[in-house]
Amino acid sequence: MTEPSSDKLIEVLRKAVSRTSMLAEGNDPQLDSVVRQIRQTITKGANAEEIQKALNNAEPFLIQSDEAHLSRAKQVRSTLQDLIDILEKQDDKQVPQSEKKQLEAKIRLHWQQPSQWPLLLKDFLTLAENTLNQPATDHAKSSFFKRLLNRSAKNDAIKNTQDIIIQVSHTLAGLLNNLSLPSIHDNDIADLKTALSKNDNLQQFPDLLDETINLVMVAVGKNQESLTNYLNQLNKQLASINESITHSDQTQKSLSKSREGLNTKLQQQMKDTSKAVQEASELNSLKSLINERLSTISTTMTAYRSQMKEQEKQSNQSIALLKNKVTRMEKDTTSLRALLQEKLAQAMTDSLTDLPNRTAYQDAILPLCKAMQKAHKPICLVVCDIDHFKKVNDTWGHLAGDKVLRLVPKQIRNMLTKEDLMFRYGGEEFVMVFPDTTLEKAIERAENVRLAVTKTPFNVQGEPVSISVSIGVAELQPQEDPESLFDRADKQLYLAKDGGRNKVMAHK
Ligand code: GH3
Ligand code: MG
Ligand code: MG
Repeated sequence: MTEPSSDKLIEVLRKAVSRTSMLAEGNDPQLDSVVRQIRQTITKGANAEEIQKALNNAEPFLIQSDEAHLSRAKQVRSTLQDLIDILEKQDDKQVPQSEKKQLEAKIRLHWQQPSQWPLLLKDFLTLAENTLNQPATDHAKSSFFKRLLNRSAKNDAIKNTQDIIIQVSHTLAGLLNNLSLPSIHDNDIADLKTALSKNDNLQQFPDLLDETINLVMVAVGKNQESLTNYLNQLNKQLASINESITHSDQTQKSLSKSREGLNTKLQQQMKDTSKAVQEASELNSLKSLINERLSTISTTMTAYRSQMKEQEKQSNQSIALLKNKVTRMEKDTTSLRALLQEKLAQAMTDSLTDLPNRTAYQDAILPLCKAMQKAHKPICLVVCDIDHFKKVNDTWGHLAGDKVLRLVPKQIRNMLTKEDLMFRYGGEEFVMVFPDTTLEKAIERAENVRLAVTKTPFNVQGEPVSISVSIGVAELQPQEDPESLFDRADKQLYLAKDGGRNKVMAHK
């Protein structure tokens, strides 16, 4: 969970308090002034303590307003009961009992809910119409005969109905007095009350009752409308919290599992909230409902945040562990690479002479030849073999032979340039590569090599020993591969041997 979401939550809570205060407005001037204070406190961005103080100030007025609502509801309940009683008291009509019982049951269930008052009055209207319009009962028939005999019977019946209507009208006028409607409806109420008090006509009665119902709806509708607006706003805000969480969910896949849990929880809480607020019809129950829901959401988010922190801690730990591992592996790799290079170098170097060996030659020769061919530069291969070396070994022993094998390349090296390469190809055989050198130059330098070796005074066990080498030279041809080049040079070496040794022979 990131900071913007918690900011949002605080904003929602502020708005919730602000809007809840709006709902309370219009019922009581004293309450109006304290709720205005609450809103001002919130709007100017006061801290929690100041808001709490303003809320505490409002508390007694909210309770008072609740008590006022209760006494109004009791008034409505007794009016409805009075209306039913009036119908029951009349002589010649029978109130349909099942309908009456149904209405009384509805009154018992809904008398505290202002939104239901118009519906209860409508039900009463239906009951009154059904009672007054139904055919005369047995009892009514008997009074009819009585009235017929008295000749005043018809007048009595009319009078009876008129009485009922007058009484009902009177009761409704009383209800209008007790509704405490906003003053803009004063004229409507006065007109309706006059019409009700004058009315003794059953035909007009439904219209008048309809108007009374309309005014009752106005009385309860104000709250109902602001309630609906408020709930819509609140739901939108809750939805936006959820949306921001869903958004972070998409961006942080690694934490998706726990977040999914939070989403499900929040979605369920929002579902519960919308359902509950749709059912709520009173300010106080709504207020505590919203508080309860918001605190549940807040608790969920706090729990989620600490879960996230724990996960973050854990992932930081595993990242640190991983870093250590990687560092160790890097060190291992470095030492392994060094070891490998050392081994590789060992594998490429001849231990007796410290010269690169035959393997090294084979690795080096192909790229070298290709590079020279590409650059259209000459390259020559020089194969050199110590003459009658077997004799050295045989005469002075193998160790003396080794000594000669170490000394000969040292002498040869003195005759080479920095660019030239030399390998111990095997036994007492050495191979030299002269890059960027023509055959002519190569023969010349091979001759220098031969001479240098011959001139070297080798001392074995105190005795001077003369050593010579035979050399074969060849220059790389265009398109030629290293093997063919070697073969040609090697052939020249054998020609030199055959020609009496201590010679340079070249393939021209
Ligand atoms: P040629 O002039 O025809 O080349 O005669 P050679 O005696 O030099 O040739 P040959 O091939 O008959 O003998 C080479 C000898 O070199 C045989 C072998 O014992 C010896 N040799 C090869 N490697 C080593 C080594 O590392 N140390 C010693 N001491 N001798 C070696
Ligand atoms: Mg030899
Ligand atoms: Mg040899």
